[in-house]
Amino acid sequence: MCVLEKMGPIFRIGFWEILRDIFFPERCLSCSKGLQGRRTVSFCSACHEDIRIIREPYCTVCGKPFIKSAGGNHLCGYCIKKSWNFSRARAAVYYEGPIAEAVRIFKYNGKMYGLDTFTALIPGNTLKSISQESDLIVPVPVHPKRLRKRGFNQALVLARKFFPESRNKIDPHVLERCQWTMSQAGLSGAERRGNVRNAFRVLQREKIKNKKILLVDDVFTTGATVNECARILKKNQAAEIEVFTFARSVFRN
Ligand SMILES: [Zn+2]
Ligand SMILES: [Zn+2]
Repeated sequence: MCVLEKMGPIFRIGFWEILRDIFFPERCLSCSKGLQGRRTVSFCSACHEDIRIIREPYCTVCGKPFIKSAGGNHLCGYCIKKSWNFSRARAAVYYEGPIAEAVRIFKYNGKMYGLDTFTALIPGNTLKSISQESDLIVPVPVHPKRLRKRGFNQALVLARKFFPESRNKIDPHVLERCQWTMSQAGLSGAERRGNVRNAFRVLQREKIKNKKILLVDDVFTTGATVNECARILKKNQAAEIEVFTFARSVFRN
């Protein structure tokens, strides 16, 4: 019996954790500062403090949070005037500061170690209640060319991470991004809507017919992308579309 085994299981766990932390120190997902010990949220305390979780009150349709409003949930100015093709959109955190950086290294550098942190930041029962109500979970597709370059679809990775108990509902093959679009970054709301118009097509209409669909993506910026996906899904007889994104930009519609 080796010395470590004689010392008991508690010591063994501590020992291996210490070794792991020496050789593979955990780093803050935003500023890369070394973190001591394992934690559920891999942000240093300064970055963690800058993360804002989206809480009520928010717009009943698009989920836009009302920072200064003391009342309950209600429609935002945009949703009073315009309609969406989805019935409601919800997001967990604001897309800014440390979250924007953590999403960037996940999406563009393929660093998957932030996924546990993303899940841990989502409040309570949010994921369970959202997925329970849907028949099908559809990640927003990326263009095959982008998929080849990036190696993964970030929306599919997030859907699998967020909804492990509903894995059989996740279907990345019913919707396809058939048109190459320029990056949405730097475009206005109207430009973004024009940019994604007709960018998607339904591949398996029979699978979505009369189904309640949950669309999943990483970030809701103006909503142009998920709205276009929802339009095509509804045009192909989906019953209802809801949207869940990990983060939501403070961008105005
Ligand atoms: Zn940090
Ligand atoms: Zn709204």
